[in-house]
Amino acid sequence: MTAKTKPNARAKASPRKKAAARDWTAAFRVGPGRKIRLSAWNPDEDGGFEKKVTRKRTAKIIEEIDDLQYRLYAESKQALLVVLQAIDAGGKDGTIRRVFGPINPQGVRVTSFKKPTELERSHDFLWRIHRAVPPLGHIGLFNRSHYEDVLVVRVRKLAPPEIWKARYDHINAFERMLRDHGTRVVKFFLYISRDEQRDRMQRRLDDPGRNWKFSEADLEERKHWDDYMAAFEDALSRCSTADAPWYVVPANRKWFRDHLVATVLRDTLRAMDPRTPPSPDLSGIVIDG
Ligand code: ATP
Ligand code: MG
Repeated sequence: MTAKTKPNARAKASPRKKAAARDWTAAFRVGPGRKIRLSAWNPDEDGGFEKKVTRKRTAKIIEEIDDLQYRLYAESKQALLVVLQAIDAGGKDGTIRRVFGPINPQGVRVTSFKKPTELERSHDFLWRIHRAVPPLGHIGLFNRSHYEDVLVVRVRKLAPPEIWKARYDHINAFERMLRDHGTRVVKFFLYISRDEQRDRMQRRLDDPGRNWKFSEADLEERKHWDDYMAAFEDALSRCSTADAPWYVVPANRKWFRDHLVATVLRDTLRAMDPRTPPSPDLSGIVIDG
């Protein structure tokens, strides 16, 4: 290679490299129609990033999300719905605290979905979900979601297969309808390993400050680990669409988890491109006194 061709080659490669670097989160997105196997994903993944630098970057990204959220609110023509799912001790609460903690609480609504009440059970499974969807101008955050109805309901046999099997189509149609209304949907599966779950549960037992988080019911769910993973695989494979994609978030390392979630949200909001309304003519207005 001559001295002349070298810089040219670099100049050509650089934008491509930059584009690839910008889109690094795509590797964690489940392609529509793709049948995934979680055993092929590594919950320890760190993207080759360095922890300290990445934490600082995440903080900057969250600042930008806050700014984009402000514009989303001012515009009030679109909404963003973020779905968080994970196995027990998977880090849903920590993700909410760390990624959404610094964002203006007026623009974000968090809804945690527990076991349905009697009233909720007397309605279709999407009734309580639809009521909690964010209005235009807002970001809505689901801590668990309608996906419980194809996860715990399937694993613990709370409904017969013909009921939960029909729900994948119901969910896809529901999320498409939300999109048609102006609501973007992004879904994250926080993926920890079985060993990591054990360690986190053990910490909850050993650390008095964390005892309150320990739940014997979680030990019972843990026995069904493989069934849960199979249920997640089907939900992610059948319900990741171009309009409402699923991301598999390697979540053993919290700093990487937060970075991936924040980056995807920032990129999604950037693509939504919310704009503050154009200024009216205010030139004749005088403020008294
Ligand atoms: P944390 O334990 O961090 O407070 P959590 O989301 O685990 O948060 P819990 O009250 O411990 O909250 O658990 C909620 C339970 O409700 C979970 O076991 C979940 O599977 C269950 N659940 C949620 N939605 C449904 C549903 N549609 N049908 C049946 N069970 C559900
Ligand atoms: Mg729990």
